[in-house]
Amino acid sequence: MTISTQSIPLFLKAIKDEIAANAEEVTALDQAIGDGDHVTNLLRGLEALEKQSAELSEMEWSAAFMKIGMTLMSTMGGASGSLYGSLFVAMGKEAQKTDMDTAGFADIFDAGVTAVKTRGKADLGEKTMLDTLIPASRALSEKADIAASDLLDALKKAAYEGMLSTKDMLATKGRASFLGERASGHIDAGARTSQLMICAIADVIEKN
Ligand code: ADP
Ligand code: MG
Repeated sequence: MTISTQSIPLFLKAIKDEIAANAEEVTALDQAIGDGDHVTNLLRGLEALEKQSAELSEMEWSAAFMKIGMTLMSTMGGASGSLYGSLFVAMGKEAQKTDMDTAGFADIFDAGVTAVKTRGKADLGEKTMLDTLIPASRALSEKADIAASDLLDALKKAAYEGMLSTKDMLATKGRASFLGERASGHIDAGARTSQLMICAIADVIEKN
């Protein structure tokens, strides 16, 4: 399975629709254990990307990922702006030397997730977006040889379970870490938006 950058406008629209449809829920999550701005930050970034979608669709994947990362870094703000920005910039760097087939994408995504870990000084189990991103990356790497629809289902399941796993965690990074025990019982906002975006992309690929 190989996907062209011509699909970027479709992906961006699906992602923005999904985040907008769940905006109230995510805002409530970030209000409970953060400062409530996560969806506003993310939608600002996604709107900036939408304006670039025609240009992005004419680029190579590596340049497109890098531009997406730079745009998110410069428009989103918040911890998540630099983290999602780092994810895509690192994916762009890895895509310079790796093909965008299924196995190659697993390596590209892994490089992005590694950059988020480095930037956030965080890992699995700290109640952040990494609890969605790391299991999603593992699902891609472990299952890169299975049929596309099974792979997409495994990816969605890993992201969903990872997102849910943040509910009962204590936060050790980000604003929620100031709350100690009080953060427990709430899903992390960034884990939820990562999962929503991964599922939106998988759904577009499944339908096309
Ligand atoms: P801010 O926390 O600056 O208000 P946002 O609300 O936009 O930024 O984003 C918060 C999200 O960023 C959290 O829900 C969490 O998923 C993620 N996050 C925060 N700090 C870290 C970190 N050190 N490592 C990984 N993810 C983090
Ligand atoms: Mg916030």
